[in-house]
Amino acid sequence: MEEWTMGEWTPNTYFDSLYESDRDLERVAERLQAEGMRDISVAAGYGRLLTFLVAATGARRVLEIGALGGYSGICLARALPEDGRLVSLELKREYAELARENLTAAGLGDKAEYRVGEAAASLEELKREGARFDFFFIDADKENYPHYLEACIALANRGAVIAADNTLLGGKTIDETRQGPSARAMRHFNQTIARDERLQGVHLSAFDGLALARVLSGMPD
Ligand code: SAM
Repeated sequence: MEEWTMGEWTPNTYFDSLYESDRDLERVAERLQAEGMRDISVAAGYGRLLTFLVAATGARRVLEIGALGGYSGICLARALPEDGRLVSLELKREYAELARENLTAAGLGDKAEYRVGEAAASLEELKREGARFDFFFIDADKENYPHYLEACIALANRGAVIAADNTLLGGKTIDETRQGPSARAMRHFNQTIARDERLQGVHLSAFDGLALARVLSGMPD
């Protein structure tokens, strides 16, 4: 179904207009602009969904792959209980620092830990440490999504939820003439979400697509 519009309204702008403005999230967008960084934060509607899911699942330990300016980090960390923790993996030191500043400004600094470097290396390090998580948000380099999914499953408590952004890649995922590494990796990732017996998966098609999966394997918490 084509997405409808009504004058200036789209479904997304309509729903966004219902919510109070959010100073902590606006600050992230302002800081990204001031630093001349591209604002590729998760869509506002999916940010609200992340907050909702962390709260609804009662997740205490959350792992994020791809921090940028801390927009999704705020959405995740604000739903954590008092003793909850967000671990965020980010390639670039300046992004991790900006994210940390924005979480601190939002009063969430004491809940977040940033690990700088290739996410694959940080995931190995977390595995060696015996870390376990209840909720994951994958939002970094797309060609590594299948690898990140396996790493998240290995770090998951049973029943943990994995969310991943940009599963449509602006349409590239569906266009079979696109055979680059990101499109191929995302097709593989989406198939795994839909079919892997260790997961109960679902795909959402709004914005650039979001996958959700519940991990059926893994250790009980
Ligand atoms: N999740 C963020 C949000 O919604 O606010 C947006 C993340 S942005 C789409 C992707 C981020 O992944 C960038 O900050 C980028 O530097 C980071 N990234 C890309 N490749 C990475 C890698 N190999 N390891 C860790 N982080 C990576």
